[in-house]
Amino acid sequence: MGRISCARIWILALLVCGTAQPAAAQSGADRADAYKQEAAAAVESMAKLAQEMVDSVFSFSELAHQEVETSRYLTGMLEKNGFTVRRGVAGMPTAWVATWGSGRPVIALGSDVDGIPQASQKPGVPYRDPLIAGAPGHGEGHNSGVPLNIVAALAVKRIMEREKLPGTLMLWPGIAEELVAAKAWYVREGVFKGVDISLFTHVDTNLKVSWGSGAGNGLVSVEYTFEGETAHSAVAPWRGRSALDAVELMNIGWNYKREHLRIQQRSHYVITDGGDQPNVVPSRASVWYFFRETDYPLIKEMWDAGNRMAEGAALMTGTRWSSRIIGTAWPQHFNKPIAEAMFTNIQRVGLPKWSEDDQAFARAVQKEIGAPTQNGLDVELAKIEEPLRDEDKRGGGSDDIGDVSWTVPTVALRYPSNIPGLPGHNWANAIAMATPIAHKGVVAGAKVEAMTVIDILLKPELVKQAWDYFTSVQTKQTTYTPFLAADTPPPTWVNREVMDRFRPELKKLYYDPSRYRTYLEQLGITYPMLQRTEKPRPAGQ
Ligand SMILES: [Zn+2]
Repeated sequence: MGRISCARIWILALLVCGTAQPAAAQSGADRADAYKQEAAAAVESMAKLAQEMVDSVFSFSELAHQEVETSRYLTGMLEKNGFTVRRGVAGMPTAWVATWGSGRPVIALGSDVDGIPQASQKPGVPYRDPLIAGAPGHGEGHNSGVPLNIVAALAVKRIMEREKLPGTLMLWPGIAEELVAAKAWYVREGVFKGVDISLFTHVDTNLKVSWGSGAGNGLVSVEYTFEGETAHSAVAPWRGRSALDAVELMNIGWNYKREHLRIQQRSHYVITDGGDQPNVVPSRASVWYFFRETDYPLIKEMWDAGNRMAEGAALMTGTRWSSRIIGTAWPQHFNKPIAEAMFTNIQRVGLPKWSEDDQAFARAVQKEIGAPTQNGLDVELAKIEEPLRDEDKRGGGSDDIGDVSWTVPTVALRYPSNIPGLPGHNWANAIAMATPIAHKGVVAGAKVEAMTVIDILLKPELVKQAWDYFTSVQTKQTTYTPFLAADTPPPTWVNREVMDRFRPELKKLYYDPSRYRTYLEQLGITYPMLQRTEKPRPAGQ
């Protein structure tokens, strides 16, 4: 609420007074304050650009390591605005780093960009209604973070240019985050060498930040493949050695072990290859595991146990086993001084001013999916989140920003672009992500981020405090040990077939901002749709 009125007051003040006092003539806190007001107003003035970028990336709906259109679009936007782009970073075709400016501090702004399998969903429609049945979609909200970073960066860049402030802005995408399959490779490649502070952004339902070790887990994601011998399943089954039997026995072994694992762990698997047809004994079969725990030794322990299960299953079935890493993430640890500085900016910006339509729509979605809370969108700011003791943790998800957070002082800004109470990794999480809810959340987040960048640019002591915390607290007793070997390749082959299959259909639905004000308008969806009886009316196609 405060944010919009502040910006308006500031613009009003400009109109009334003609020109504000030149910021350079001021000093210290006043100067930072003036720049922050200016940056917030600049972000507000780019709300249309934010909406176009959020809706465009939503419509691309690309999965991990196949973010081809997304990368082309976002890097194009950055190049148009004077950034230098390096593509194909760390051996990953869709990865890039965009830089602008010169000298210190070097501030990295990152966010994830990829989607979720089978999460295709019409935005603004409060029930299951895929754009394309079976296609991927933004069933988490990763379409919004890099647009947020771009708007924040452009707002600060204007001030840096005019005031000739030294500093470098470095934007980068968390490609393949849904497989936690890129950031450890970035770190191994040295992408964050020379970076002073890293600000990460992630979609949420409130505007918030945390420091220390939070509720999430780290993980290693490993695919096990067994090889045996085919035979006719009816005529000579005794001559076959079934790789699928090995997969099933490994899973049985792991599911027995599950009872004896810590509460904090999470482990899950899918069978990625179960053979070809029943009358051929499967000679090859694969199962893909995620092993999640709260620290490196515990994750490594689970991984070792998984390897023993695979060995046991191979012994029982007379097959051979091998494995490969598909993804990995260190548990996250965020920087205290930067989080506190960011929280001050969060309090200043406040939550977006939700309309009655936004609230009615959010409640309709919550009711439809039977959400545990059905109170609509958050209207009260969350508190700064403090570290959790290991014994208080109860497991949870992961983000490979963890690897970055152990390389350079990092915080993650959470911004309110989605509806509370949704299941996550689900079509329902895509519903709000190209509606005014997502757009307003991105604008609020971009203001906080821009203000925090200004703090970092103007206060060398903040950067020093951040590094003091990093070296004397965070990494005092914990050394970052990557799960990756020096030659572990990034899994750039994943999802290729799925995207090849769906891209021609998805292309027909890409958002065209030159013809439609919003993606909702392009799809013929009148916001807010609250009832099942209302039907979208496609416009122009
Ligand atoms: Zn995410």
